[in-house]
Amino acid sequence: MQLIEHYLSLQGEGLHSGKPTYFVRFARCNLRCQWCDTSYSFGKGTLVSFNTVTSKIKESRAKFVCLTGGEPLLHTEDCIQLMRHAPQLHFDIETGGSLDIQPFQVKNSSIIMDWKLEHSGMNHKMKQDNLLYLRPEQDLLKFVTDGSSVEKSEILQIIEKTKNRGFQISIQPVFGCEIQPIADWLLSLKNPCLQFNLQLHKLIWAAHPVGI
Ligand code: SF4
Repeated sequence: MQLIEHYLSLQGEGLHSGKPTYFVRFARCNLRCQWCDTSYSFGKGTLVSFNTVTSKIKESRAKFVCLTGGEPLLHTEDCIQLMRHAPQLHFDIETGGSLDIQPFQVKNSSIIMDWKLEHSGMNHKMKQDNLLYLRPEQDLLKFVTDGSSVEKSEILQIIEKTKNRGFQISIQPVFGCEIQPIADWLLSLKNPCLQFNLQLHKLIWAAHPVGI
């Protein structure tokens, strides 16, 4: 597997936020978001054997594994193989939303789809059909926002478009921006599908624990 790093940490987002999780960060990304904070994943990474990764996951005793990147969906076979190998574990799959999520929607996975808003410069790359595929209770649609009125209106349009689909929607402030107004805005929407998310890793470790 071409990886940037793999390590045990706390899941910082999604439905399993706060839970000990083994992170597998795949190399390469097909997008170039303006505010990307993981550009170190753009390279080809290091070749790590399947057995090494599965042994480390087992050693960590984590019940959750996060497949992230870069863009993990560029590594279909590796992701599917990992999920099949460990049906007793739950896999969070963090994707940028530009590639088909369907092959990764298995019983023991949750898709965390980071939908790129206009300011990312990558909104035109979003695969619109993915919004139809997100599963209620199991998958999550995520927006990273600076809380500007332009972005709030963009987010509301997508919420309206996907109304009654039943999946969770996470609002995550851009790191370093004023968070309370965004939390207040979320509460004012009175939408039970919404959840607020802060980047736990950055709050605790400034970046993340040491990987590979
Ligand atoms: S999808 Fe993620 S890793 Fe890729 S450019 Fe955007 S923020 Fe960076």
